[in-house]
Amino acid sequence: MKSITELMREGPVLGDGGYLIELERRGYVDSGSGREKVGTGRGSGQFTPEVAIENPGALRELHEEFLNAGSQVLQALTFFGTREKLNRAGYGGQTESINAAAVKLARDVAQGRALIAGSVSRTQLIEREGIESLGKAREHIAEQIRLLKGAGADFLILETFFHLAEMKVALECAAEAGIPAVATMSFRPLITACSDGYTPAECARAMSDLGAIAVGANCEQEPERMLPLLRSMRDAAKVPLAAQPAAFRTTDSCHSFTRQSAFPDDLETIQVSRREFVDFGKAARNEGIGYIGGCCGCNAAYIKAIRRGLSEDQ
Ligand SMILES: [Zn+2]
Repeated sequence: MKSITELMREGPVLGDGGYLIELERRGYVDSGSGREKVGTGRGSGQFTPEVAIENPGALRELHEEFLNAGSQVLQALTFFGTREKLNRAGYGGQTESINAAAVKLARDVAQGRALIAGSVSRTQLIEREGIESLGKAREHIAEQIRLLKGAGADFLILETFFHLAEMKVALECAAEAGIPAVATMSFRPLITACSDGYTPAECARAMSDLGAIAVGANCEQEPERMLPLLRSMRDAAKVPLAAQPAAFRTTDSCHSFTRQSAFPDDLETIQVSRREFVDFGKAARNEGIGYIGGCCGCNAAYIKAIRRGLSEDQ
């Protein structure tokens, strides 16, 4: 199997969709909304990946659906899989087994037909405790990256980081572990800056300078609203763009679906149709997107839609 870098050289690589929201809809992931207010922007909420050990059949099925839709990469469900976040959800003691099981499950499904990416997200420590917790975040991210590499992930997708400072730490940890990393920030409440005030272009430059093999954005916006921010990143980056938009409609005053009142229990009311993902796939090559997939709200139908768009390349 070719490496992710080799695949991107041949044209846009088709990734997969969002796991946690889809599995939450299927009844296997806890949104946390029954116990606490989520979507406050302060990093509350559960959405942890214990499904990898508690209901592996459900996760396996979703991997199979993405593979069948044409995904060339399957992401191990290790999002929010750092020990501190798992601790808060009551699963800290299973940090090793959750990360290892998630990679193994994805690999068992792929059988060499797709690459396996370890997913590493923000720890939520910066949102909850402030920037002085960056050292603690580094330890947790470094530990998770060691676990993912040890479990055999082919590369990493560093995703849904709100602060560039924490993303830089994650890229340094990936470099120290010697594992390639795609790096995508999430911009909220507006697409003009990340939470520590850097523009998308500044983020793109910093991430490519730190060795990311592709840089871009994931989550929070639908394709149409994410595209302008990707263009500003493209002009600043030395590497291909990576894009995994969400499938939820945002508004002119708030470019972030997790800050809409519909999150998380009324998300069906702001779902974007898969048609917009056909168009996004069509645009990918011309926009310089080297890695394209979907984030929250994207099931296999959305990945099929991107695939259709890529094959209808203008
Ligand atoms: Zn997402």
